[in-house]
Amino acid sequence: MLDDMLDYLEKTRERPVWQPIPDEVRAAFNTPLLTTPMSLPEVHELFMQQVLPYTVGNTHPGFMGWVHGGGNPVGMLAEMLAAGLNANLGGRDQIPLEVERQVTAWVRDLFGFPLGASGLFVTGTSQANLIGVLVARATALGIEMRRNGLTSDRRRLVAYTSTGAHCSIAQAMDVAGLGTAALRMIDVDDLHRMDVKALEYAIAADRQQGYTPFFIAASAGTVDVGAIDPLIALAEVARRERLWLHVDGAYAALAMLAPDIAPLLAGIEQADSIAFDFHKWGQAPYDAGFILVRDGVRHEATFSAPAAYLKRATRGMAAGSPWPCDFGTDLSRGFRALKVWFALKVYGAAHLGTVISHTCTLARQLEQHIKREAELELLAPVTLNIVCFRYRCKNADRVNADIVVALQESGIVAPSTTTVRGVVAIRAAIVNHRTQAKDIDALVTATLDFGKTFT
Ligand SMILES: *Cc1c(COP(=O)(O)O)cnc(C)c1O
Repeated sequence: MLDDMLDYLEKTRERPVWQPIPDEVRAAFNTPLLTTPMSLPEVHELFMQQVLPYTVGNTHPGFMGWVHGGGNPVGMLAEMLAAGLNANLGGRDQIPLEVERQVTAWVRDLFGFPLGASGLFVTGTSQANLIGVLVARATALGIEMRRNGLTSDRRRLVAYTSTGAHCSIAQAMDVAGLGTAALRMIDVDDLHRMDVKALEYAIAADRQQGYTPFFIAASAGTVDVGAIDPLIALAEVARRERLWLHVDGAYAALAMLAPDIAPLLAGIEQADSIAFDFHKWGQAPYDAGFILVRDGVRHEATFSAPAAYLKRATRGMAAGSPWPCDFGTDLSRGFRALKVWFALKVYGAAHLGTVISHTCTLARQLEQHIKREAELELLAPVTLNIVCFRYRCKNADRVNADIVVALQESGIVAPSTTTVRGVVAIRAAIVNHRTQAKDIDALVTATLDFGKTFT
């Protein structure tokens, strides 16, 4: 199994990025529960034939869709060790928790957060954004709200984010019981960054109408175009208005590791909370999201709960409080920290930064290439590693959507689509450490070929 997976990663370039799934393969996953066992080699063979070839292909250098990380072999091996230990990181006195605390201390320092900051591995930034909203909500309404519920409080909390924000911010407002209508979508400027004047105007208007502003969700790397909101200005507004500043840095916050990109994130150190993923630009195998909260006391007060069977001690296995289960809603938790700890030790933080920086260089090369081709049009400025463009033609929306499907089905390169200022864009997010200049060239060549075919 280990040989197969190391071969798989070594030879990833020789396969198509993605291929359509044959009906009979899909049907193999719709059978009754077996009563007679199969041998391990037999099931492994099923995996090799029916699972391995039909993933979405984000380990492949030609994968440029959405924001998916490429993973790494050290992380893969660490996952095997973690599964062998079968550690439950909800709490108790064990070194696996010290590994998670070590990674937390590293990211706390990386973002310039104080010693009292708290951190927690979660599934992904969607969950981390939700935790950010919940801690801010408890801070705004007071801890009694946890017992009395929202209905006991007549204040109507409202939050702010940009029109470029990820949909998980609105979902967090929904799940937190505040409602998506209480999230004000602030306009963006030419560079797709939140318009600070429009934000200030919206806050003033809300206060005038009796609402209680409590939360700003800034984006550090919007999912569509990779824009970074003006964090320094937003921190100033948050301070003046006494609002919680949360940064959704899902993929781009880790650009703090790249000395040439990090200055774009200036101001992030002033946030109250930061959500980000190790499984995107950090190249960790899925899943490895993270929430960092400046005030660890507030964070703990939002989630900690007394239970006799979770009683803490100063000695024995129940020592070492607070536990991770005091900082989120998961009690049983896997050892996500190990694959991140291993990768940071083996490759080094500086090398991960170099990888991040390189993907931005490739994006700029793609931008230049697009500008040279008369048939192609750039649709958004390139800040980081995301390039939105289209093939110029009549019925451009339909043709460009068709081009993306054709590219994906070709197995050569796999961008995705988005809509930029009302038009369909081919969107290439270069996240994978395996992607090279030749993959960028292949994207342009194949786009031009399909464009000609479809017009
Ligand atoms: C990917 C992404 C998310 C969601 O993160 P998950 O890890 O997929 O839950 C949120 N915000 C932004 C900006 C993203 O790129």
